Amino acid sequence: MSRTPIAIAPRQPAQIPGQHGLSGVIPRETLTGRAVAVDDAFVQALEEVCTKVDVDDNSRTDYARDWWPLGMVWATTGHVARMPAAVARPENTEEVAAVLRLANDAGIPVTAAGGRSGVLGNSLPVFGGVVIDLTRLSGITDLRGDDLSVDVMAGTFGDSFEEALQKEGFTAGHWPQSMKLATVGGWIACSGAGQMSTRYGTMADITRGVTAVLADGRVIETSQFAHSSTGPDMTQLFVGSEGTLGIIVSACLNIHKKAEYTESGAWAFDSFDAGVEAIKRFSQRGARPAVVRLYDATESRRNFDTKDQHILLVHDEGDRDIVAGIMSVVRAECDGNAGDTALVDRWLANRNSVHALDDLILDRAPDTMEITAPWSKLAKIYHETTAAMMAVDGTRTATAHISHAYPGSAGLYFMFGGRPELEDRPRWYRDVWNAGARTVLTHGGNLAHHHGIGLQRARLMGESMGSSMEAMQAVKDALDPKGILNPGKLGLKNPFGPTPDWADKAALKA
Ligand SMILES: Cc1cc2nc3c(=O)[nH]c(=O)nc-3n(C[C@H](O)[C@H](O)[C@H](O)COP(=O)(O)OP(=O)(O)OC[C@H]3O[C@@H](n4cnc5c(N)ncnc54)[C@H](O)[C@@H]3O)c2cc1C
Repeated sequence: MSRTPIAIAPRQPAQIPGQHGLSGVIPRETLTGRAVAVDDAFVQALEEVCTKVDVDDNSRTDYARDWWPLGMVWATTGHVARMPAAVARPENTEEVAAVLRLANDAGIPVTAAGGRSGVLGNSLPVFGGVVIDLTRLSGITDLRGDDLSVDVMAGTFGDSFEEALQKEGFTAGHWPQSMKLATVGGWIACSGAGQMSTRYGTMADITRGVTAVLADGRVIETSQFAHSSTGPDMTQLFVGSEGTLGIIVSACLNIHKKAEYTESGAWAFDSFDAGVEAIKRFSQRGARPAVVRLYDATESRRNFDTKDQHILLVHDEGDRDIVAGIMSVVRAECDGNAGDTALVDRWLANRNSVHALDDLILDRAPDTMEITAPWSKLAKIYHETTAAMMAVDGTRTATAHISHAYPGSAGLYFMFGGRPELEDRPRWYRDVWNAGARTVLTHGGNLAHHHGIGLQRARLMGESMGSSMEAMQAVKDALDPKGILNPGKLGLKNPFGPTPDWADKAALKA
């Protein structure tokens, strides 16, 4: 039951929408503030320790972008947030460590990049310096079937990783919509959640251990046991750290036997609140089917052509007896009948589709905001937050669905859009996010469920973290005393100056 290693060819990230605006131009930067340059001597030193280093305009432009919707809008007019001075593309842990040692000695910012599929500007090099691309660290180094665990390199893309596991009869169970766009390192660094997280858990549950390189080049390996009573869990320090505490070079993940059986159901509710109550009831009886999604009436109409109905999709996979038991609890709490499974099939067929974004981005300014809400507050948070987003000048639509369910809470995923004038988009994005996020926080939800913080939500971290922000800063100061790792993110202090206000028109360079 063990095969090791399994080669997975490295590849470049997928193209990001809005790219047409950048072809043949040297982009203009929108962010003000300090941009740390590197001199020829530093580039030469980098080249001596790292197999591939790029300083050409095309590469620097590529690494100045991710899937943040505002960045896509900027790109259509030849703008990016901030260019890195150099892109280092190491092919092993030693090279990652050597790049960090050099940058740390010289006080140069280093921003980690995987698939660059972050949707909040997570991997943007706000203060320039070096972007370290991890995608050449690809492949499975060990698969232990008896222990249901796998060692995988951080730059391995999600779809290739899962395909390799499935060939061996296993699954990681992590299915983000961005399966083809994101890497394992990015999954961990953003504390992501896949569409089947209700059964398999989020990356916080799936990640057993990491090997990480600290800012000064030291390599550390955290415990890989399913459970330890050996002090605080150092693995979890890196889950959700967004490249601010260290660079993850590989990880040990939990895996599962590939599912032998599936069952699905779909139900229509007269109100969103009634659907919420049904999910709460079956979740609290212990039923955790892989997929649990409740769409409000507008999203149900958009996805399933229904009218004034709130559609709940449930899909489970795994051992036949266990799945059958779970689905019988779900049916009992959703008024008995099995529902229309064709709707689940329709969702399964389209669940990784991202093709429409290039067309939508200029027309309707679509964006999403995902948060966690306790069951007791969820319905109120849904109603108040969609109303607060709609009240912002320029918003045309604000809807939501439940995307992940837990016994005590659920992940709520807001989708919103508008038609503000092009030059007014940064203001609109900031205002609608402020209104949405602050309404959620005021009513007892959290700031982020699975996309992380990035540049977009950094200003809200203090409000969200409260008294623990100081402890997080102390951890940052201890692990990265010179503050070189992904400065400008997670609301942490950094030595390169204040994080630029990306929505302030006066702060944007012409
Ligand atoms: C269409 C679309 C759908 C999406 N759907 C989902 C979804 O269903 N679930 C979900 O969780 N997310 C989703 N996302 C968001 C995104 O795909 C995830 O956040 C993903 O985990 C990012 O991985 P990445 O490799 O692209 O990381 P990047 O975007 O390259 O980086 C993200 C952050 O992680 C840091 N980082 C990356 N690699 C490392 C490393 N090796 N060590 C340390 N830090 C690192 C970066 O510095 C940055 O802060 C979606 C995005 C898109 C565009």
